[in-house]
Amino acid sequence: MISIVIPIYNEQENIPALYKRLTEASPLWKESYEIIVVDDGSFDNSLNLLLEISKKDKQVKVLKLSRNFGHQAAITAGMHAATGDAVIIMDGDLQDPPEELPRFLEKWREGYQVVYAIRTKRKEAIHKRFGYWLFYRFLAMISDIDIPLDSGDFCVMDRVVVDAMNKQLTERIRFVRGLRAYAGFKQIGVKYERAERAAGEPKYTFRKLINLAFDGLLDYSVFPLRVASYFGFIISLFSFSAGIFLIIHRIVDFKLLGYSPSDVPGMASLGIGIFFLGGLTIMFLGIIGNYIGRIYFEVKNRPTYIVEKFYNND
Ligand code: UDP
Ligand code: MG
Repeated sequence: MISIVIPIYNEQENIPALYKRLTEASPLWKESYEIIVVDDGSFDNSLNLLLEISKKDKQVKVLKLSRNFGHQAAITAGMHAATGDAVIIMDGDLQDPPEELPRFLEKWREGYQVVYAIRTKRKEAIHKRFGYWLFYRFLAMISDIDIPLDSGDFCVMDRVVVDAMNKQLTERIRFVRGLRAYAGFKQIGVKYERAERAAGEPKYTFRKLINLAFDGLLDYSVFPLRVASYFGFIISLFSFSAGIFLIIHRIVDFKLLGYSPSDVPGMASLGIGIFFLGGLTIMFLGIIGNYIGRIYFEVKNRPTYIVEKFYNND
């Protein structure tokens, strides 16, 4: 059996088409299936539509979270609830076409334990595309594990991978595509053309997107912390040499840039030094603070999500 996990946050315009296209595509794969829709605290008509479908179709299970916990948390909830031998993760806005699934499942049957989708084309605004492009390359540069470029959450995972992620990668802040790469096993990327959102507005606000980017960057790398040490080292070296130069300058007392140390006290150099170092200190305190914040969240050990009700679950 395969499980299809779909996070839904206010997708009332897309749900009928999503269900229709999934059902139409389902004869293309041989396995029986369950669809686990995770309602991530929708406040439009999404839940009602889903429940209507689930009354008629017992393959559709609705996992209602107690509020909006965010896309990654919703996926995590779905992965915990899924019981299939393979678990598919896809978006609810039809950007990940259900018709692509047979191709992915074929690879899974060949023995690949993770089949992830690589987007070839993105039909989105240019600034957004540039942002994604930059993010994935920067992430690849600094992170300690290989997170495939331009791969999103759309994927098929074998039961062993899902179990490993559910039971062994238990951190609370979830960057699912990163955890998936971390988990290892036999992985393969399959190219596909990412469609446009079928209807409605994107549910990722700019802020949510930035937060996701931070989760990705900070969770898989201590590079930013290391940058602080590199900078610190280079700047100390520079300051030390500058200090020695200033002492010699004072002793020899030659004219430089129109004055000699004996007639002008070095206010400018002093001021610049203080501001420069002050700025750097605050900046790196910020970076360190970011990591401490994450430690705090992990240590609190709060759940990633809270389930209100699981419909159609037997
Ligand atoms: N989503 C969610 N919770 C959120 C935001 C989004 O469950 O807080 C769902 C949304 O309904 C959709 C998927 O996650 O099915 C991807 O969201 P979106 O299409 O807005 O992201 P984008 O495609 O722009 O990255
Ligand atoms: Mg989308």
